[in-house]
Amino acid sequence: MKSVTLNSSAKINLTLGILSKRLDGYHELDTVMQAVSVHDVIKLTKKEKGITVCTNLPYVPNDSRNTAYKAAKLFFEQTGIDGGIEISVEKNIPVAAGLAGGSSNAASVLKGMNWLFGTGLTLDELCKMGAKIGADVPFCLMGGAAHATGIGEKLEKLPKLPQCHIVIAKPPVSVSTPEAYSAWDSLGEESGKIMYGDMAQALQAQDIDMVCERMYNDFERVANIKIPAIAEYKKIMTEFGAKGTLMSGSGPSVFGIFGSQNQARKAYNELKKKCREVYICRPV
Ligand code: ATP
Repeated sequence: MKSVTLNSSAKINLTLGILSKRLDGYHELDTVMQAVSVHDVIKLTKKEKGITVCTNLPYVPNDSRNTAYKAAKLFFEQTGIDGGIEISVEKNIPVAAGLAGGSSNAASVLKGMNWLFGTGLTLDELCKMGAKIGADVPFCLMGGAAHATGIGEKLEKLPKLPQCHIVIAKPPVSVSTPEAYSAWDSLGEESGKIMYGDMAQALQAQDIDMVCERMYNDFERVANIKIPAIAEYKKIMTEFGAKGTLMSGSGPSVFGIFGSQNQARKAYNELKKKCREVYICRPV
């Protein structure tokens, strides 16, 4: 086989608590993530030598800064395979949005190359490789729902969200994750609450109302100060029947969870009047 095409899914955070800052400058996190059906499409084609990346967005780098490139380079280094790969990335996941688009692309490249080159690496081995590229890469390899701790790389699988409709809207600003952490540090606050046990229980019970009551994100407090659209979009989602709304990751994307497709569609239509990047999706 010479080429393979994969869907590369976004994620949302159902809870996100920022814990202590480590001596190496990284923050310890406690988060529950869920993969969703908004996805990029990645096509990998074998070639003689070298790594090339092309994307459909001019502001996403096509060189060694691209997470897909980093993943391919690491794969060749670690497996000792002397080959080349052409990577095409069709971006649909908003960029710098708190939806782990870059991490997901890296995960898809590792998974696809493992298949294409017949290396037979286990999920665990791929996750170890992925963690070198970014803390969210192991989760993106795993998919579904999971509890992550450490800097996001220690994972424990959870039952995925029960069937529901998720609306995601990204305000027209980008958030850099390092800047979001500095803003959190300058607030000098403690994490509001560690919600993990509660969220795991809600997912195990497959109780969507309980999940929505227990959603929580420390970064939202920071982002709310600078980005009024977050509160505005959440309000619209709630008015149209969302059971719960939250900002994802370090933001600025906001999501709402709906029990009915009709309500989700109406919220989507309303948000579309204000915001270009709006999506309806499902848990995957
Ligand atoms: P996270 O939720 O993991 O913090 P994010 O959704 O906030 O991620 P990304 O979309 O991954 O952020 O993009 C962050 C930065 O990485 C952007 O500035 C972008 O230019 C760069 N980048 C590198 N490779 C990619 C890629 N394959 N897809 C998207 N962005 C990429």
